[in-house]
Amino acid sequence: MYDILIVGSGPAGLAAAIYGKRANLSVAVIEKNFGGVGQIGEGGHVYNYPGLPGIRGFELGMKFREHAAELSVEFIEQEMMSVKRVCGENGQAGKIVSGDDRTLPRYEIQLKDGSVRESLAVVYAAGTSPKKTGLPEEEKFIAKGISYCAICDGNFYRDKTVAVLGGGDTALDEALYLSSLCKKVYLIHRRNEFRGSRSTVSKVENQDNIELVLGETVSTITGEDRVDGLVLQSGRNIELQGIFVAYGSAPSTDPVKTIVQLDDYGYIKAGEDGKTMEAGTDKELPGFFAAGDVRTKHLRQVVTAVSDGANAATSAAEWISTI
Ligand code: NAP
Repeated sequence: MYDILIVGSGPAGLAAAIYGKRANLSVAVIEKNFGGVGQIGEGGHVYNYPGLPGIRGFELGMKFREHAAELSVEFIEQEMMSVKRVCGENGQAGKIVSGDDRTLPRYEIQLKDGSVRESLAVVYAAGTSPKKTGLPEEEKFIAKGISYCAICDGNFYRDKTVAVLGGGDTALDEALYLSSLCKKVYLIHRRNEFRGSRSTVSKVENQDNIELVLGETVSTITGEDRVDGLVLQSGRNIELQGIFVAYGSAPSTDPVKTIVQLDDYGYIKAGEDGKTMEAGTDKELPGFFAAGDVRTKHLRQVVTAVSDGANAATSAAEWISTI
């Protein structure tokens, strides 16, 4: 049994691992992707992380990971499927007991390979994942013309024609980035006003090879084995080779939604200390903490994610000391 199991190896999870280890606790990080660093690895440069202006997101993530590895944090490369809270037999009194004291209240995390890992506390830092279009053809064309990350996949579409779907900052940034690689970029947005920042909209409007398609949505994606075009709701056909979906992100809360309270948008309700509430009650869920983009918060950035990780691990250590 671990003291803390951390779910997610983005900035929040890795910061929690560093703080947990430095509090002399046994810590393991469960990560879906081998050697993961979270979503910062998929973006471009990070310009607002204090002290490291302009560092590549992946490089920053690797620095966090190397720091955790230096402290001998264990990594478990598995997808978490569900979690169960197991109440202890001897109440809450007592001291930290490392090892396998079955009387302690604990969490059991079920993994995709069928195994179960146990810990006294959980820091859930699974982040968010890209929203999908929901079109019936979408799944079949993922990695065959449909992508959710221009920085990751843009190079495959060098000198080709692509579309970016969405009107937020991500869509605008991706359209600009792709315009430097691709022959032509259609930016398709359902409204006539963009959600993204005015200054980026101006850059997009001034880019010759970006065509704005406003007040439109995609009704069908066409192609045999790969995407070869799309049809808009108005009936207009566009021939292209790639579609970049930039509809924002949704929190990855499926494995925990039965035990922890979520807000109306699916984020875990938690304050700065990471403490959560039990689903369907007005009680705290002891020993279960949320950190990073997955929790309710004002600003989702690397700097706030690492701060959350530190807070959640500290709350976890405090909780463990009361068991
Ligand atoms: P976002 O701001 O939520 O924008 C999502 C866009 O996708 C919106 O324009 C939305 O349309 C559209 N959309 C969502 N679902 C759709 C659907 N089913 N059909 C059609 N259109 C759909 O997400 P984001 O762009 O990823 O940005 C997230 C946050 O990160 C924002 O706060 C953003 O400012 C920030 N960010 C900042 C930067 C930067 O500063 N450089 C870069 C990237 C992201 P509507 O507008 O009609 O709702």
